[in-house]
Amino acid sequence: MNKTQETLYQRALRVWGKEPQMLQVIEEMSELIKEILKNVNRKKDNVAEIVEETADVEIMLEQLKCCYNIKDKVEAYKTDKLKAIEERLNLWEKTHDK
Ligand SMILES: [Mg+2]
Repeated sequence: MNKTQETLYQRALRVWGKEPQMLQVIEEMSELIKEILKNVNRKKDNVAEIVEETADVEIMLEQLKCCYNIKDKVEAYKTDKLKAIEERLNLWEKTHDK
């Protein structure tokens, strides 16, 4: 997130409040879940809706990181987690002849 985006997220948290914005995180995640389920379970052609809801969730997750001041910790955890995923994939591919 760049400085302009961070300023906007902080402004949203200040103007609309932290609790309502954190509930909005949940609402947007549930909207994305619904679109994924429609796509997978009902074979609905809804990629446009998935794009929209993914953007909504990403925006709200950025606000969540601002709200709890955890941007750097999340980034560090992601780096470690991605390393672990890569190691698991390497092992899987070595043992499953991919
Ligand atoms: Mg939405």
